[in-house]
Amino acid sequence: MGNLKYKRVLLKVSGEALMGEQSFGIDQAMVARVAREIADVRALGAEVGVVIGGGNIFRGVSVAAKGGDRVRGDHMGMLATVMNVLAMANALESIDVPVVAMSAIAMDEICEQFTQRAAKAYLAEGKIVLFAAGTGNPFVTTDSGAALRAAEMQCDAVFKGTQVDGVYSADPLKNPDAIRYDEISYTEVLKQGLKVMDAAAIALAQEANIPIIVYSLHEPNGIVEILQGRGRATIVSG
Ligand code: UDP
Repeated sequence: MGNLKYKRVLLKVSGEALMGEQSFGIDQAMVARVAREIADVRALGAEVGVVIGGGNIFRGVSVAAKGGDRVRGDHMGMLATVMNVLAMANALESIDVPVVAMSAIAMDEICEQFTQRAAKAYLAEGKIVLFAAGTGNPFVTTDSGAALRAAEMQCDAVFKGTQVDGVYSADPLKNPDAIRYDEISYTEVLKQGLKVMDAAAIALAQEANIPIIVYSLHEPNGIVEILQGRGRATIVSG
């Protein structure tokens, strides 16, 4: 327990990761799988915050693209993240993992409102904190929410699961010549426009000096392995 590579971590779970083989919505089996992984990470002794996306249910830009109001679309997107968080809270409770859902937008009847101080105290108590509604502001994504909460919680790393085992110079699923990086700097990621997280999230992680660990969602025990100094991932850092 004492020699974890990162003690307090922020996991970014995209909405797509929760829809499994479905074309939209929440696949309970996928939610249960991610909940199990979160429980395993906690069992190692790590403190875990989780930012969950909403793309499986709603994306704000799709409203704007159809001539609607972008801000309202983004509000709908943030509400979608709340549904995913509630599903994850259920899944964690069902396996006896203590969990608190906190929303960036007040909805007291449904979950607690986020405050930095309360969230930090919950993490220190060993509770999983699920961060809903991203940053609470439009025109950004839950990637930015993940970097923001990681900075506020003084996390040691942000974990970003993807379809492949790290950061490549191009999409390795389309380009067999793509080069994989074991390590890469924030500046290089931004300069090359590599699709790690959105640019605002990378800049915020850089500002707060929090490494982003990019790993494959398809690797069983991916995060557990990495926390113990094994496993395959790209580390984005200074
Ligand atoms: N969103 C937002 N502000 C935030 C986080 C999310 O406006 O701080 C909205 C935005 O419309 C976004 C949607 O919520 O498209 C869903 O979040 P995201 O696209 O990050 O979900 P993911 O791709 O991780 O499933």
